[in-house]
Amino acid sequence: QFSVTLPTSRGDEIGELAISFQKMANQLQESDQLRKRFINDVSHDFQTPLQNIKGYAALVANNELSSEKLHQYARIIQAETERLSVLTKQLLLLTSLDSLTEQMDVELFSVSSQLTEVLQRYRWLMVDKNISLTAEIDDITMCGNQAYIEKVWENLLSNALKYTTTGGMIDITLTESSNGVIATFKDNGIGIHKNNIPHLFERFFRVDDARHAEIEGTGLGLAIVHQIVSLHSGKIDVTSIIGKGTTFTVYLPKKFQNADPSA
Ligand code: ADP
Repeated sequence: QFSVTLPTSRGDEIGELAISFQKMANQLQESDQLRKRFINDVSHDFQTPLQNIKGYAALVANNELSSEKLHQYARIIQAETERLSVLTKQLLLLTSLDSLTEQMDVELFSVSSQLTEVLQRYRWLMVDKNISLTAEIDDITMCGNQAYIEKVWENLLSNALKYTTTGGMIDITLTESSNGVIATFKDNGIGIHKNNIPHLFERFFRVDDARHAEIEGTGLGLAIVHQIVSLHSGKIDVTSIIGKGTTFTVYLPKKFQNADPSA
């Protein structure tokens, strides 16, 4: 903890300098608090599955268990290991996005083929949950980091699927505007309360709701989406009605412009 107070009431250059030092000090303090919160959240998110793995592994080590129990515990260990694996992958991706100091690799690619492939990959999940999909995808090429943009579609689609109940509907569009690409992901799922919308892109944020409690997640997917869209100088909007559904709209410029890292 540190605190700095400088004489900011002077109207001259010294006063101005003091104001900018004060701002820098505040930013440092803020980033220090964010770093601490981040470490705290990460540790907590690792601790829970690790405790479960430890506990169930101890039970499995007991050779008096029925084969039914043995299978049940093994499945829990499997699910918790998967959770740790997803968490680690997402954290590594976020850290690599954060530490991008130079211009990222960009190329010209067909965003329509990319999105179509992502939809194909998730089709089995839609069949599994009996969710119907409509997709209207225009033929568009854009310049950007192909692997990162693919993550944007994957995360938005997997959220639409996760937070939409069986028998629901997902509607996806990809269109071209005068200088950019507009993608919409609309679902008729559980929706998000308006008080939660400003926090959606924060790291580790998950809506605290009984209906959400059953759904697996890390709270990092949308933070990753936001970071990638910002790195492409794009933006993302959300509209949602609780119980009715949610729409995420992504705007990306077709020509790559270097994002201002301080923005
Ligand atoms: P998670 O891994 O928890 O899904 P995300 O960062 O992807 O993390 O999303 C953050 C939170 O936003 C989710 O936990 C969920 O509460 C809410 N959310 C995201 N997408 C949707 C959606 N399509 N419908 C309803 N809620 C959503």
